Amino acid sequence: MALDTNSLRVAFAVVAFTVGILFYFADYLSTRSPYSGWWSVSLALFLLGSAALLLQETPFRWLANPIGNSLLVSGACAVWASARSVRALHPPVWILIAVPACSAVAAAVDHPDTNQWAGDAVFLAFMCLMIGLAARELWLGGPEASRIRMAMCVAAAAVATFYFCRLMSFILDGPGSTRYNTFFGSAVTTLVGMAFLAVASFSMFALSSENRARLLKSAAAQDGLTGLLNRSAFLQDAGDELRRIRLEGTHGSLVLADLDHFKEVNDSYGHAAGDVALKAFAGACRAAVRSGDLVGRIGGEEFILLVPGISAERARLIATEISNRFETASAAARFPMPTASYGIVPVGKGTADLDELIAAADAALYTAKSRGRDQAVIGRHED
Ligand code: GH3
Ligand code: MG
Ligand code: MG
Repeated sequence: MALDTNSLRVAFAVVAFTVGILFYFADYLSTRSPYSGWWSVSLALFLLGSAALLLQETPFRWLANPIGNSLLVSGACAVWASARSVRALHPPVWILIAVPACSAVAAAVDHPDTNQWAGDAVFLAFMCLMIGLAARELWLGGPEASRIRMAMCVAAAAVATFYFCRLMSFILDGPGSTRYNTFFGSAVTTLVGMAFLAVASFSMFALSSENRARLLKSAAAQDGLTGLLNRSAFLQDAGDELRRIRLEGTHGSLVLADLDHFKEVNDSYGHAAGDVALKAFAGACRAAVRSGDLVGRIGGEEFILLVPGISAERARLIATEISNRFETASAAARFPMPTASYGIVPVGKGTADLDELIAAADAALYTAKSRGRDQAVIGRHED
C-alpha cells in the first residue's frame, strides 16, 4: 500500500489545526497553565511546518525547506518547553531561538533548491534531541507523581527513538534507500506525528483535569482567610496522625489556641484589622512549627496544632514562640496584636480519640483564660 505523502501531510495539518483549536479553547483558556499554552504553540508550529513542506513541490522549494524544517524543530522545542513547565521550569529562551535557527541555516546552505533532503540530518538530530529532552523532563517529574505524565513520557521517548532510528538510517542507508523510505520516509513520519499529536493532546487534557481536581481538593481543605487547614481537614488529618502515633507507640502534643479579648480588636480597629490579626497569628503558628506539623483554624479566632514527637513541655515553648512572633506583627499592622491563651495536652499510645483530646485541650484552655489569659496550661490527659 503506497501512502501519498502530500495527502497525509494535508490530513496531518487538518488534525493539528482541529486539535489545536479545540485544545486552545477547551483547555488553555480555562486553565492558563503554561504547559497547555506551550502545547498549543507547538501544535500551531507543527501545522505551519507541514504546510511549508507542502511547498516543496513548487518553485519555492529553496524557501520551503529551511522554513519548514525550522518550524517543525520549533514545534519540538515548544514540546520541550511544555514538558519543562510541567516541572514549573522555564525554558532558556536562547535554546528556543538557536535550535530552529541552526536548523534553518543547515537547510539553507545545503542547496535547498535542488536537494529535497537539504539540512535533514541536522533537522532529524534536533527533532530527536528536543523530543528526547521533553521525555527526560516528564520522567524527572512534576510536583506530584502522575500516571498521565508517565504515559506522555513514554510517548515522547517513542517518538525520540523513532527520530533517532530515522537519523541513523538517513546517515547509514541514505535518504534514497528503500529501507529509509519504507520505514522512515515522510509518509510513516507523518503517521507517527499524528499518533503522537493524539496521545499528547489527550494526555495534556487529562493532566489539566488532574491538576484542577488537586487544586479543588486543596482549596476544599483550606481556610479561606489564613490558608491553614480548615476544621474538617484538620480533624481528618489529625485523626490519621493520631492512629499513626498510637500504632508506632510514639508521642506528641495537641495545642488549642484562642486569641484573648479578640472582640475588642474588631470593636476598636474594625473587622478588617481583626482579619489582619488572624492572618498574623496563622503566620506565627506556621513559622513556629515544622512543615509537616498540622496547623488548623478550628473556629473564628481559635487555632489548633498537632505536633508529633513534641512533649507537652516543649509544646509550651512553641506556644511562647508563637506569642512572641505574634506580638512582633504589631509593628507592621500599626495596632497592638492581642495576646493568646493555650491549652496543651500530651498525645501518646494510650490516648483516647481525637474528640476527647480536644475536649481536654479545651478544658486546659478554659483554665488559662480563667487564670488571667496570655498563658499556656497543660491539661491532665496524660496516658
Ligand atoms: P476571650 O478572651 O474570652 O476569648 O474573648 P474574645 O473576645 O476573644 O472571645 P469572643 O468569643 O467573645 O469573641 C470572638 C470574636 O471573634 C467575635 C467574632 O466577631 C470574632 N470573629 C470570629 N471570626 C472572625 C473573623 O473571621 N474575622 C474577624 N475579624 N473576627 C472574627
Ligand atoms: Mg478569644
Ligand atoms: Mg473563642
